[in-house]
Amino acid sequence: MQIVHTKAQLRVLLKQARKIGQSVGFVPTMGYLHAGHASLIHRARQENDVVVVSVFVNPTQFGPNEDLDAYPRDPDKDMALMRAEGTDIAFFPSADDIYPAGYATYVTVEGPMTQALCGRSRPGHFRGVTTVVSKLFHLTTPDRAYFGQKDAQQVAVIRQMVSDLDFDVQIVACPIVREPDGLALSSRNTYLSEKQRAQASGISRALFEAREMILAGQRDATLMTDHIKKRITAIDSAAVDYVSIVDARTLADLDTLIGEVLIAVAVKMGRTRLIDNIRVEV
Ligand code: AMP
Repeated sequence: MQIVHTKAQLRVLLKQARKIGQSVGFVPTMGYLHAGHASLIHRARQENDVVVVSVFVNPTQFGPNEDLDAYPRDPDKDMALMRAEGTDIAFFPSADDIYPAGYATYVTVEGPMTQALCGRSRPGHFRGVTTVVSKLFHLTTPDRAYFGQKDAQQVAVIRQMVSDLDFDVQIVACPIVREPDGLALSSRNTYLSEKQRAQASGISRALFEAREMILAGQRDATLMTDHIKKRITAIDSAAVDYVSIVDARTLADLDTLIGEVLIAVAVKMGRTRLIDNIRVEV
């Protein structure tokens, strides 16, 4: 595995790969890698000649009162996981290299897709995501890029950006990897106290239960939303940020559950904000 820290080094390596006709799979991450990230790298390894994994805690996608400085970091452990999954190039850029002094260009997907769900409580978040992903796509020119369905809104927003801006890349969405008790793996789970961690499994339980209710014939989105909110509110240390039932592709609100339905939630456990979701084909 080659470890590179600058855009220039990355470009040299990828130019060489391109010259001999190799395909490139790209997995962008913020590090503190876990089995969810590993599943993305694993899939990229199966489908491409060269696998590039980036680790960059992107400052532009954090709000002023969010956890940018506290975000967990462990590059040595990350490199071990990347190696184990067969990564060819590990890219650890610095914030100064990605956003040099005088940096002024941002990429924004406009409209409800970025304003609903996480966009409501994290204004500017998706602008940061689409900006950095655009830059990383230009730097890596991947044939395929791998994202987790865990961040379902992010996948939808990036698909929209790729389509609108004619990026020549296939977006591959990978299933959510969960702990045995159902909690979706997240680098932020490390913030949870023992008690919060034990209670956090109630979030996915509420989603699984909702799926069963829909599969049993429930079609009323308001009723389902209220039911999930009630379940999550009943968890001692949890506060609901949002519960949304939307069309999985457009993220438009649904009144009646039909088609590819996405149930997405954000929950605060103390100061930690967790997101999770489930898709149901109705
Ligand atoms: P992050 O490092 O949290 O920005 O995540 C990097 C990528 O890994 C994103 O595409 C995430 O959606 C994906 N990811 C994070 N957690 C999981 C998970 N539990 N299962 C699958 N993919 C995940």
